[in-house]
Amino acid sequence: MKSVRRKILLFGLTAMISFSLAACGSKEEDTGGTTAGTDTAATTAATTAATTAKEDDEDVTTGGTYTAGTYTATAKGNNGDVTLEVTFDSDAIKSIEIKEHGETPGISDAPIAKIPELIIANQSLNIDAITGATNTSNAILNAVADAVNQAGGDAEALKKVEVAANEAAGEAVEKEADVIVVGAGGAGLAAAVSAAEEGASVIVIEKNPYIGGNTVRTGGGYASCDPEAIAIHEMTPGQMAEIEGLIARETDNEAVKGWQKKVAEDMEAYKAEGKTQVYDSLEYMSLQYFFRFSQAADPELLYDLVSKSKPTKEWLGELGFDWTDSPSLLLGDTWPRWFSSVSAHGGNMFISVFTDEIEEKNYNVEIIKEVRANELLTADGRVVGVKGTASDGTEYTLNANKGVVLATGGFSANKEMLIEYSDGRWADISKLQTDNDPAMVGDGIKMALEIGADVVDMGHLQLVPLSDPKTGDAYPFIGTGTNLYVNKEGKRFVNELSDRDTLSNAALAQTDGIFYMVCDKNNAGVGEDGITYGGQNIQDLIDAGLVVKADTLEELAELIDVDPATFVETIEKFNEAVKTGVDPEFNRASFGGDFINPDGNPGIFEPPFYTGPRTPSAHITKGGLKVNTSAEVIGTDGNTIPGLFAAGEVTGGRTVAGLLEAMTSGRTAGKTVMGK
Ligand SMILES: Cc1cc2nc3c(=O)[nH]c(=O)nc-3n(C[C@H](O)[C@H](O)[C@H](O)COP(=O)(O)OP(=O)(O)OC[C@H]3O[C@@H](n4cnc5c(N)ncnc54)[C@H](O)[C@@H]3O)c2cc1C
Repeated sequence: MKSVRRKILLFGLTAMISFSLAACGSKEEDTGGTTAGTDTAATTAATTAATTAKEDDEDVTTGGTYTAGTYTATAKGNNGDVTLEVTFDSDAIKSIEIKEHGETPGISDAPIAKIPELIIANQSLNIDAITGATNTSNAILNAVADAVNQAGGDAEALKKVEVAANEAAGEAVEKEADVIVVGAGGAGLAAAVSAAEEGASVIVIEKNPYIGGNTVRTGGGYASCDPEAIAIHEMTPGQMAEIEGLIARETDNEAVKGWQKKVAEDMEAYKAEGKTQVYDSLEYMSLQYFFRFSQAADPELLYDLVSKSKPTKEWLGELGFDWTDSPSLLLGDTWPRWFSSVSAHGGNMFISVFTDEIEEKNYNVEIIKEVRANELLTADGRVVGVKGTASDGTEYTLNANKGVVLATGGFSANKEMLIEYSDGRWADISKLQTDNDPAMVGDGIKMALEIGADVVDMGHLQLVPLSDPKTGDAYPFIGTGTNLYVNKEGKRFVNELSDRDTLSNAALAQTDGIFYMVCDKNNAGVGEDGITYGGQNIQDLIDAGLVVKADTLEELAELIDVDPATFVETIEKFNEAVKTGVDPEFNRASFGGDFINPDGNPGIFEPPFYTGPRTPSAHITKGGLKVNTSAEVIGTDGNTIPGLFAAGEVTGGRTVAGLLEAMTSGRTAGKTVMGK
């Protein structure tokens, strides 16, 4: 078996080994932040009016603007075709029904709900795309335009029809609950459900018209320390060397020395017992993360996070999360301890498991969308609520009986903040794009700073090396992430299995900061159904100019303007390394199943050949609000701020952001705010 079913997990964006993502059919929405028609895929969508058919011939009446009836139209969305039915009477568009789509659940909810409503209310196609879901929005607008033309109307004229201004702000709203949660991403919803389990009434406010934040953009990889589960993997010499290296690392930190001692003892026993499986322990996982992430973590917070990884995973399982049994690797990691959902694409299960639970248990949890929190309310030194503004301008005052949980995510989408807090680890932040939801601008940090909160490790920005140079979007791409990387000069420049900082640094040092992931038929990650590893149709990517395909390596090189002779020589050298397992140039330790061909002809050799440009983009901000292991926010005076809690990427101190942090700290915050 090869291809999509056996790959290393990419920066959390893709499937686990032995688990096919392609079968799940969809992928991330665009990172958006643009308005209609300004990004490449949207432009493609605009020029693509695909299959159309008039369905309801019997019901036809004529005489007005339209030939009444129901018409079907299809246009390209983010993940493929969006098909809808539009019903007209002779004067107006009466209904729009989305019949089929593969758009990302969560992110596409808002355009699917809102764009048809706005078209009908205004009888106009002059509707702004929803930020963060541009491609889905444009697909709906384009398909409706097509249906309008089929019905004898004039879509171009409808694109000029003025849309009624936003309704005036409503009357100010004041509400009260035990707990106010700001942000309906993974951490916020974990906090809401965990507090509800303790009997709380909860209000969650979310500034986007959809819930899920960055959490739904993920590939759904959750890191958990589970020594029994990881033992399905055999330990490699490289992993053994890593353990020995980490035990020997110099440190002044007493907690870290204690972890080293425990791991050293474990390894003695391991060897004495003649074990061969991958070893893991709370101490080892903490040790790895401590040294991998600049030794910047607070050891107490880090160990607490790691200790909660398995119990929180089990809690999610009790709520209905269908975990994979076997953990796997993730891009930039060396330990196969990543779990994901069997059935759900990407990060969706990290959201739906909570919304389903709220519904099933009938918890007193209200989620209010399109309200942006902008101020924390205090009284007598305690945080007692939040002030927010709805998208129509309505003012919200939300009073908290027990406390406020900030779960507003990171700030990768706020370039000014990235620059302001830069610790110099990335040379030219102003040029970086991001793969984040545009909402990730650090609101929670700013609000908490206003009332005296402290922040830690704010310059610790993690880049993801494999983004689309045009948009910064983590998708789309061809390959699996661990493919051969070649620069514009046609040469390899890095061990493709390095950690993310090394990969990103190496990539940024190349001409224009760009490199190409080069694949052949066997390692392109394209399933028999033509769906890529990231869940997109390969032909769509080629049509959109995001991926190039050729029958020979020379032609491929020409398509990307690289010297064919150098390119071919690089690939021949790489193939030799795959064949011998020895990589003299970059010391790559493993090539994985993708490069091993049953005919004994390993490497990149079988047409068609594919490639596409990649560059690093801002991915995760590891710094944030200073918190303790109970998710209480700590002020600049060193004391906790009564009534204020924080969870997820808005916090700092652990250096391990991501779903693990969101789930564990969210759950903790919900309990602590209820005094548990
Ligand atoms: C493309 C991509 C792939 C990733 N893959 C993985 C992976 O597989 N595994 C992993 O561990 N990590 C992964 N990460 C990192 C991970 O997504 C985040 O660290 C994690 O989801 C953060 O969760 P959160 O709840 O803190 O924030 P989010 O899920 O981002 O939620 C924050 C929410 O707060 C809302 N909000 C912000 N400000 C306000 C305000 N003022 N008022 C109201 N609401 C507000 C936002 O709109 C958002 O909905 C990935 C990140 C990206 C971008």
